Amino acid sequence: MSNDILFLAEFTGGSPARSALELATGAAELASQSGGSAVALAYGPGAADGAAALGAHGATRAIVLGDDDRPAIAYAAAVVSAARDGGLALLAPATPNGRDVAAVLVGTLDLPAFGPVRAARFSEGTIETEQATLQGSVITTSCPVDGAATPSVVLVLANTFTPNEGGSGSAEVSQAPAAEDLAFTQVTVAESHEADAKVVNLEEATIIVAGGRGVASEDGFGPLRELASALGGAVGASRAAADAGWIPYQLQIGQTGKVVKPSLYIGAGISGAIQHRVGMQTAEHVVAINKDPDAPIGEFADLFVVGDLFQIIPALTDEIRRRKGT
Ligand SMILES: Cc1cc2nc3c(=O)[nH]c(=O)nc-3n(C[C@H](O)[C@H](O)[C@H](O)COP(=O)(O)OP(=O)(O)OC[C@H]3O[C@@H](n4cnc5c(N)ncnc54)[C@H](O)[C@@H]3O)c2cc1C
Repeated sequence: MSNDILFLAEFTGGSPARSALELATGAAELASQSGGSAVALAYGPGAADGAAALGAHGATRAIVLGDDDRPAIAYAAAVVSAARDGGLALLAPATPNGRDVAAVLVGTLDLPAFGPVRAARFSEGTIETEQATLQGSVITTSCPVDGAATPSVVLVLANTFTPNEGGSGSAEVSQAPAAEDLAFTQVTVAESHEADAKVVNLEEATIIVAGGRGVASEDGFGPLRELASALGGAVGASRAAADAGWIPYQLQIGQTGKVVKPSLYIGAGISGAIQHRVGMQTAEHVVAINKDPDAPIGEFADLFVVGDLFQIIPALTDEIRRRKGT
């Protein structure tokens, strides 16, 4: 068994997905602990030309599985072939595509699977992962049992690793040999739809202004959008707001929504239920605006402003614009 750390590196529209950069950095961290190399399994449009650049984020080698825009699961056979050659762990993003490919891999090779995890490390000769369970109230630490097949397949939540942006290295690129023919390679795209223009990728936002039931209506999100725009940030929501139809589900943060890691999270009219908290608790700074001084979010916010969001948010937006001169 080699101590290499493999990772799925998805490319879309000619560029690596953010998950590929995060996993390159995470795989490099783990490989430096295990004494192996970080090896990208790159697929999707742009993979052939872009795989070498994953070296700047930590990959030592990159195996290009394919360069066309087939659905991710169509590359599963090539991933299975690459994983047969061994490695200590294979990191996959906890996205719909990552889950599809990981499921085929685990089922075909009977590999141990972990996730979705919020931390992974190399400890006592094996991979060790951390997973939040029971709605975030318990953290479990797991590792493969002795003698388990390798690599361990680890589904990694977005923002578990912060991409290393400062590197300049280049990964050594090779082409994957033709993979055995699994049924999955025959998948084709029947239809595709453009995402709603109002929906941004929350997982990549560095500033988020999130609204909850206290926002009271679709129009109530107007002042939050103004504040987000003044700050150069994005708008998110609690499930109560998404369930009410005031905002698309893609913007829901929490246990059944997105896991975000902005440098600044502003929550307005959000009580701070545990299911919401697990999606934003790794924000660097948390500001909460709530008219209830006993709202649970006040217990973990860095700054807790007690008052009516419809008075505070417009005043805050005006002040930010005044200071920025916009
Ligand atoms: C299995 C499961 C999964 C779930 N997954 C998620 C998830 O992914 N994400 C998620 O968010 N929730 C999730 N939930 C729901 C969660 O339990 C809460 O019900 C939800 O987060 C509450 O949303 P909220 O804070 O917006 O609403 P509430 O809890 O109703 O809070 C509204 C807050 O707004 C304040 N408020 C009202 N008016 C104003 C005003 N004018 N100015 C300032 N403050 C005001 C109130 O004081 C209150 O604190 C899940 C629940 C379950 C059971």
